[in-house]
Amino acid sequence: MGPFPNEPLRITNPATGELIREVPAADPAAVDAALARARAAQPAWAALPFAERARILRRLARALRDDPTFADTICAESGKPRFEAEGIEVFYILELTRYYTGRKGRRALADDVRRPFVFVNKRARVVHHPRGVVAVIGPWNWPLLNNYGDCVAPLTAGNAVILKPSEHTPLTSLRVAELAREVGVPDGVFQVVPGRGDVGAALTAAADMIFFTGSASTGKQVAQAAAARLVPAVLELGGKSPMIVLADADLPRAARAAVWSGFAHSGQVCVRTERVIVEAAVADRFVELAAAEIARLRQGPPSLGKPDTADVDVGAITFAPQIDRAERLIADAVAHGARIVTGGARRTDLPGRFFAPTLIDGATADMAVIREETFGPVLPVMRVPDAEAALRAANDSPMGLSGSIWSGDASRARALARRLQAGSVCLNDAMVNYFVVEAPLGGIKASGSGFRHGPEGLRQFCRLETIVEDHPLLAWLSPLLGRELMTFPYKSRTQRLLQRFMRLFY
Ligand code: NDP
Repeated sequence: MGPFPNEPLRITNPATGELIREVPAADPAAVDAALARARAAQPAWAALPFAERARILRRLARALRDDPTFADTICAESGKPRFEAEGIEVFYILELTRYYTGRKGRRALADDVRRPFVFVNKRARVVHHPRGVVAVIGPWNWPLLNNYGDCVAPLTAGNAVILKPSEHTPLTSLRVAELAREVGVPDGVFQVVPGRGDVGAALTAAADMIFFTGSASTGKQVAQAAAARLVPAVLELGGKSPMIVLADADLPRAARAAVWSGFAHSGQVCVRTERVIVEAAVADRFVELAAAEIARLRQGPPSLGKPDTADVDVGAITFAPQIDRAERLIADAVAHGARIVTGGARRTDLPGRFFAPTLIDGATADMAVIREETFGPVLPVMRVPDAEAALRAANDSPMGLSGSIWSGDASRARALARRLQAGSVCLNDAMVNYFVVEAPLGGIKASGSGFRHGPEGLRQFCRLETIVEDHPLLAWLSPLLGRELMTFPYKSRTQRLLQRFMRLFY
């Protein structure tokens, strides 16, 4: 491991510009120590009955909910409205923990006994073992949901987890680690190592599995490092999710959903609506409705210490370079003939880093705002002649994370959805798929590989072992089938029997 830059991380509130705290960055010795503690703690954690691990994780989820300043910490380091910190991030942890620590989670991890067709005297027992130490590397946009949130499944499955939050937003994760200690998560089972990319790289070089959420460029480095050691890596990368609005859609609802899914957390959301593709016949009306929705949005710093108040809809830009990116994409769109309907600039009247929600009409496939991930408060609208053109435009992207289709005809929408190149699609809704934790959600194409949620999202944190054993009731068949069929010396009679069998059954 090379030397790490050891300056502390300076965490500022993006909505006010104020310094919140300095956090010491982990050095190589701290990463090694965390790995050693995790390795030592993991076997005992895995050996606990499922119900016991579940109880502890549920206690932790409730502790986050009940901690009086927890949501404020999320708001302060990310600049997002309290509703998003609490109503989205904390709610998600409770819901995900409920699901994975309940009956469905227990069943997904239980031994799976399978009956063979030919060797009826045998049975196969598929055992789910935890992989060992899982490194979860998180982004800055959801300090809880995409950080501790992605630790819930590997912990449930009996792994030890080391979480490396983004250097810009580590405070929420550090608070989760404190609460974990308080509620009795055994020492070393869940650890947070704050630091920069080098800490992520060091973990990637040592963990038994990596769950990474972030940009495609870092994701490729993680995948290469994991491949070199032949350990699995799940990659949740960016998106360019389309919203297709057909002429028969409920336009007011579609416009409201476009504005919410485009500007929640100022657009810094992986499954956000990145582009709206509207049938030309209803495009004017759609743009008018969306602009009216945007005009109603209240933008500003979230009020801290006011748990019952939702006084802000759109918060700050967490990561400064996102503003430059928004400006570049808007300028490029305008230079190529698009029209800014509303927004288009930073909010210099507000204290911190704010950018006005920006609606762009007349976007076309050659514009950067349609080709690149914006990950910010810019929503381009593209007009297309019909549903087939909408689908072609939607699939014309290197990414494939999420998407939504709006139509009054459910079966038509479903048929289109099956042809949309995305890991997860909503019909007549947007982004709600992230909260349907029962079903897998993950990217295809350059949006990543692997998923979160569902039994699939839990079992991927296990290595499988198959144990083939005698069936307790049919073992008497063994001399006939097992021992005589597949053993030396080969006999002509058995060979003829097999030939007959192969002709009869296949
Ligand atoms: P980055 O790729 O810059 O960083 C992600 C994490 O990886 C950070 O913790 C970062 O540390 C760390 N890291 C940096 N270099 C390395 C390395 N060499 N090895 C291992 N880890 C490293 O992404 P952002 O934080 O900028 O997140 C935004 C991106 O995440 C967007 O593109 C967005 O679409 C995507 N995203 C995807 C989601 C999904 O579910 N598919 C969900 C949320 C976001 P540090 O911050 O300290 O540099």
